[in-house]
Amino acid sequence: PLDPWYIGGPVIKGFGRGSKVLGIPTANLSAKGYSDLLAEHPSGVYFGWAGLSSRGVFKMVMSIGWNPYFDNKEKTIEPWLLHKFDEDFYGEELRLVIVGYIRPEANFPSLESLIAKIHEDGEIAEKALELPLYSSYKNDPYLRSS
Ligand code: ADP
Ligand code: MG
Repeated sequence: PLDPWYIGGPVIKGFGRGSKVLGIPTANLSAKGYSDLLAEHPSGVYFGWAGLSSRGVFKMVMSIGWNPYFDNKEKTIEPWLLHKFDEDFYGEELRLVIVGYIRPEANFPSLESLIAKIHEDGEIAEKALELPLYSSYKNDPYLRSS
């Protein structure tokens, strides 16, 4: 298993592609201040726990990287919280404890295959985070200290 790593900050606006194009909203965080941490970890899909200041702690699956399908020019941090929210939470403090790695970033021949893969990633994260090895981090004080 990975050593867990920690990223936090206010939820910022991305390109609006997560929910609008994919049906999968991702709460973007600024990569500023995290260049060393991001350089240390390969681009790809990770999972862990997300603490939202006023709402609690949720499972999350996250893409770190360049989003080859969309040909981004900057590395992005984009967690999908595995919970249904009734409203957006831009500007709220979001804390992440990243505990596991699922797969490297990949390009996909179609949007449908990308969406299917992300749902598969979500199921892997859901199950993995139930394991004692990973579930214990749900109580990490960092998630609730904002
Ligand atoms: P953006 O490109 O601005 O990040 P998205 O289409 O990716 O837009 O939508 C992300 C926004 O949707 C988040 O910033 C958050 O406010 C909201 N949101 C609602 N539900 C979720 C969720 N389950 N996971 C992540 N973000 C969510
Ligand atoms: Mg997003």
